[in-house]
Amino acid sequence: MAKKTLRDLSVSGKKVLVRVDFNVPLKGGQVADDTRILAAVPTIEYLIQQDAKVILVSHLGRPKGNVVPELRLDPVARRLEEILERPVKKVNEALGPVAERAANSLLPGEVLLLENIRFYRGEEKNDPDFAAGLARLADVYVNDAFGAAHRAHASTAGVAQHLPAVAGFLMEKEIRMLGSILEEPKRPFIAVLGGAKVSDKIKVLNNLVPKVNTLIIGGGMAFTFLAAQGYGVGRSLLEEDKIPVAKEIMQVAESRGVKLLLPVDVVVAQEATDKAVSQVVPVSAIPAAEMGLDIGPATRKLYSEAIAGASTVLWNGPMGMFELPPFAAGTQAVAQAIADSGSISVVGGGDSAAAVAKLGLAGRMTHISTGGGASLEFLEGKELPGVAALQDK
Ligand code: ADP
Ligand code: MG
Repeated sequence: MAKKTLRDLSVSGKKVLVRVDFNVPLKGGQVADDTRILAAVPTIEYLIQQDAKVILVSHLGRPKGNVVPELRLDPVARRLEEILERPVKKVNEALGPVAERAANSLLPGEVLLLENIRFYRGEEKNDPDFAAGLARLADVYVNDAFGAAHRAHASTAGVAQHLPAVAGFLMEKEIRMLGSILEEPKRPFIAVLGGAKVSDKIKVLNNLVPKVNTLIIGGGMAFTFLAAQGYGVGRSLLEEDKIPVAKEIMQVAESRGVKLLLPVDVVVAQEATDKAVSQVVPVSAIPAAEMGLDIGPATRKLYSEAIAGASTVLWNGPMGMFELPPFAAGTQAVAQAIADSGSISVVGGGDSAAAVAKLGLAGRMTHISTGGGASLEFLEGKELPGVAALQDK
């Protein structure tokens, strides 16, 4: 599983193609959130210090093989210049003569940003000729785009067949943190799973149940589990066809001595709005006309106490519709409990990461994965194509 990293090869004076995840939100022609750019800076700074010629490539949005002017990477180049406090060259191509000339004219320590790689059809198709064209720009390939590693695209996988291919520092950290939690967690190991649907998380649940000591379930998917136990769940999010899956997961947990915690009370309302009139009810008394949108106070206490005893916590999926203030308390309580537990804490999933950031608790987690979909697929136990393509140590 261990992959070669930047440190395993000499890059001085070499042209290094770095796949980064600069898929950032833009607003009014500016970068609205630079979290993902900042996450790639350690790799970029290291390459600059090593006198490499740094060639950055990323996708932005979903141009689907077309040139979409609003999705050019110029705003990203400007923001990166501010962060690095040095010039960042930008070309309007990602391969071909213009890009090659720009790459070949780089001096050691200089940085070039290529155009949005998804302007080209060959990228998402992982076209071999396209990947070879991209590889012509450089001597070495570094993948630091964990967030795109679950895609077998030309810039995340195909290009690695043509060049020495290693992990950047962000990629290395993601693999190490997510990998160690699955392979050798410090026990007790608790997984807190929530979010919207059971169907989104079946593979994560199946992969985690045999590995954890305690499984805590919240969010919309808790209602399918409650229904499997025979409770009426009113108009809560329920996937009737997934009741057998929920039953099976509960059985596996029981047979393996895994403690499984489900809500004992929930916050219900007639509608999911920020002005909704809500009330707390035990799970045995969910009104037929209402829906459960958060875990209740007794559940918050139950879950927080369990989390306090953990040595490792993996969290994926909010406990309720945390985007709406009346239903945010459960997610807040769990996030706080994880922060206070002093455990090794790893957060995966886009909405969970957003929730932790919104609550101001990001600095108190051991690791927050930068890959939404990629972190989920990793937690499902899949080998990601972007990781598989890198050289083994
Ligand atoms: P992540 O991105 O961290 O993997 P998910 O995408 O699985 O998380 O789930 C996040 C979504 O789940 C949020 O939009 C949240 O509003 C929703 N959610 C949480 N609890 C409920 C609930 N009880 N009913 C409906 N939706 C819920
Ligand atoms: Mg999500």
